[in-house]
Amino acid sequence: MMLDYDLHCHSNISDGTLTPTEVVERAALRGVKVLALTDHDDMDGLDEARSAATRHGMTFINGVEISVSWRSHTLHVVGLGIAPEYPPLVEGLRVVRSGRGLRARKMSEELAKAGIGGVLEGAYNYASNPNMISRTHFARFLVEAGHCKDVKSVFNRFLVKGKPGYVPHQWSALPDAINWILGSGGIAVLAHPGRYMSGRVGMGKKTMRELLAEFVDCGGRAIEVVTGSHTPEQYAEFARYAEEFDLLCSCGSDFHGPGESYRDMGRLPDFPIGCRPVWESWQQVTSMTAA
Ligand code: AMP
Ligand code: MN
Ligand code: MN
Ligand code: MN
Repeated sequence: MMLDYDLHCHSNISDGTLTPTEVVERAALRGVKVLALTDHDDMDGLDEARSAATRHGMTFINGVEISVSWRSHTLHVVGLGIAPEYPPLVEGLRVVRSGRGLRARKMSEELAKAGIGGVLEGAYNYASNPNMISRTHFARFLVEAGHCKDVKSVFNRFLVKGKPGYVPHQWSALPDAINWILGSGGIAVLAHPGRYMSGRVGMGKKTMRELLAEFVDCGGRAIEVVTGSHTPEQYAEFARYAEEFDLLCSCGSDFHGPGESYRDMGRLPDFPIGCRPVWESWQQVTSMTAA
């Protein structure tokens, strides 16, 4: 029987609004059987989430979503089944998070120049984890301060390339992020690839193929096919890329909080026919998955 998997979601350890325990409780209520918490650049929610998952009889997978710069693009690489004590991973993420702090300062300076003051303090008020400050925290504050009606409009008006609060940033390098994941025993998954192809600065098909070739070359094993950020047409499109590059397929809601996400946890659509699920790779070697 097909279990209900959600292998991508966020707690308030990064830019989600629920605590790790609340994320697990919501997932349990909504029928998720196998859950990975994948906070951005931080693994501090994993212990709490694992305890909560155990209480709910759910299978829990350690996860993380690492921010990566590749050419002119920002990518997200999810690590599944990582060992959160692996020193290069711990140290790598510490460096990424400290870069976030510096970027936040610059963002607030840019917004101040555009006439919007007090944003740094305002954004940090929304960050439950002061070491993990994100554009999302800025967006929530700017909504509260009355500059936009919702988080989405803040991004469009202030926080994306070409807008007053956007600050270019160098994240981790793709081979490094993948090595941290593999070295800790995890599987590297390219998150929501459709997002990198959208918009004015999105990559074309040729660049997507170059990215996937490089990703595989570095040891990447899977891509997200079914995610809250893809349309059904994109499920089919990325199922074809998965076949072409011999990649396993992953699925996750990318849930950030009630009312703020494209998709809530649980009941994700099935993969297109022919996809090999990423959990095939761990079913043979471990007993992580309940029958
Ligand atoms: P950061 O890693 O701090 O640059 O922030 C990226 C996060 O912002 C993503 O993980 C999403 O949660 C959120 N995000 C990015 N683009 C948008 C958008 N257009 N609308 C709403 N949220 C977005
Ligand atoms: Mn996010
Ligand atoms: Mn992401
Ligand atoms: Mn995410």
